[in-house]
Formats: sequence, C-alpha cells, structure tokens
Amino acid sequence: MSTNPRHIALVAHDNKKASMLEWAAFNRGTLTRHHLYATGTTGTMLQHELGLPVHRFFSGPVGGDQQIGAKIAEGVIDILIFFWDPLEPQPHDPDVKALLRLAAVWNIGVASNVTTADMLISSPLFSGLYQPVRPDFGDVTGELVSAAASRTGAPERE
Ligand code: PGA
Repeated sequence: MSTNPRHIALVAHDNKKASMLEWAAFNRGTLTRHHLYATGTTGTMLQHELGLPVHRFFSGPVGGDQQIGAKIAEGVIDILIFFWDPLEPQPHDPDVKALLRLAAVWNIGVASNVTTADMLISSPLFSGLYQPVRPDFGDVTGELVSAAASRTGAPERE
C-alpha cells in the first residue's frame, strides 16, 4: 500500500503507445494510488485502457511535452515515464530534448523504456516515503522577475 502518492507523467511516441498501454494495464493496481498526467493522445488512450482519471495536456507535438516540462520545473510532477522512439525522427525533437533535460535538471525519476519503468514502479523507494532531493537554484522566480524588469524598465521586486 502506497503511503506516498506520486505525480506521474506518462508520454509515449506513436510506435511506443502499445507498449505504454500494456505496461500501464499491467501496473494498474499501483497506478490507481497515484496522480496521473499525460500528453493528449497518450492520456486519452490511458484513460480508456485503465478507466482512471488522467490529467491530459496538449498533444506532444503541439506543446504537451513543454507543458509537462513546466510542471516538472514547478515541482508538480515527480516521475516521468517517457517511452520515446529511438528509431523514428520526431517533428518535436527539440521539445523531447527539453523535457528530458528538465527531468534531469530537477532530479525527478525518469524511465524511458519498459524495463526501467518496471524497476522504478516496483522499487520500495517508489512506494515508500523517499523524497528525491529537489535542487536549490536559489530564487529562480526572483531572478526572472528582475531580469524582466530590467528589460522593460519596470521597478524591480524588493
Ligand atoms: P501524444 O504526444 O500523447 O499526444 O501522442 C506524445 C508525444 O509525441 O510527445
């Protein structure tokens, strides 16, 4: 029994959607105890397959990957299951890179294939009280506000 609900984002490229659905169905019992997020098409398919609520962002190629990246930076999403396709070029490759980059920047758990996803979700650390270290980059919000203020001439925040 989980004592620590995770916020899990699930993303699968088209050639990996079948693997994602199979993986999610197999792990449905565990996923039921967590909060699920997904890019548009992946999320629609997962909702149908699992019968569980999934917070859906835009479809990946039109901004969904970036929306998930933003939620990682905000500290909302703490696990990313991202079955990306290593054999097919993607029109939104920069967004794919950006998402994986932010996952690394913010030290969240990431799985890119079924094996790693199985190991991640079955780890005692996953269901236990383990809290990943969230890197401290200082007052990132304040720095951004100051930078914007100096560009516009607006007064800086105290
Ligand atoms: P999709 O997006 O779930 O909307 O297909 C996935 C992706 O390509 O990033």
